[in-house]
Amino acid sequence: MIQLSNVSKWYGDFQVLTDCTTQVAKGEVVVVCGPSGSGKSTLIKCVNALEPFQKGTILVDGVSVGDPKTDLPKLRSRVGMVFQHFELFPHLSITDNLTIAQMKVLGRSREEANDKGLKYLDRVGLKAHAAKFPGQLSGGQQQRVAIARALAMDPIAMLFDEPTSALDPEMINEVLDVMTGLAHEGMTMMCVTHEMGFARRVADRVIFMDRGHIVEDCAKEEFFGAPRGERAQQFLSKIL
Ligand code: ADP
Ligand code: MG
Repeated sequence: MIQLSNVSKWYGDFQVLTDCTTQVAKGEVVVVCGPSGSGKSTLIKCVNALEPFQKGTILVDGVSVGDPKTDLPKLRSRVGMVFQHFELFPHLSITDNLTIAQMKVLGRSREEANDKGLKYLDRVGLKAHAAKFPGQLSGGQQQRVAIARALAMDPIAMLFDEPTSALDPEMINEVLDVMTGLAHEGMTMMCVTHEMGFARRVADRVIFMDRGHIVEDCAKEEFFGAPRGERAQQFLSKIL
């Protein structure tokens, strides 16, 4: 579903990604971890064409992200993205947050968008909050709305960038539970997270990044089982 081949990216003179190659198969859950500044956010933003890259190729469901002929708004609408900060529109109700992109990008009618939005809001356990505004919800609830909003677009894959790292500890699990449910339903997922409990339970593969390189890319059993390279080992010893 997602294929990265020798992706390199520079911010000016600074090389942020070096020859990153990996893939995420349909239905696979891949956790991306690594020290702060190692390029995790940049990597997944490249997948969604939120950041350009200078070398290599990225294919999403066979469509080349770097090809100037690719319809990027269409591509972005097919890959759901959930960020650390929920990025809901503060001035719009939860319902409007859920429906606006469906109507504007996918051309759905208000009624169809409402039905779909409410279905996913129910799915994340928040149907009763449809008429509220983001500021009236807790951080964990807002993040669940952000996930519902992405799902309402019928994505072929979901990208998560540290979706729980801005949350108070007691709200982390409600978000991880939604993500776990999605994984079990077969959603293709690329998740930047330091929640190693989630990685152990839910991931198929774990990618470890360091200074713009993918230095480990292996089955979860292997990642947590066998002794890893020195950097991954150091990283794991700090967060486990
Ligand atoms: P991570 O998500 O692993 O913490 P990032 O992908 O956010 O890492 O950042 C990787 C590196 O790129 C860091 O050194 C960061 O300072 C740098 N960086 C990120 N965004 C920009 C930008 N817009 N301009 C210049 N440098 C950036
Ligand atoms: Mg990041």
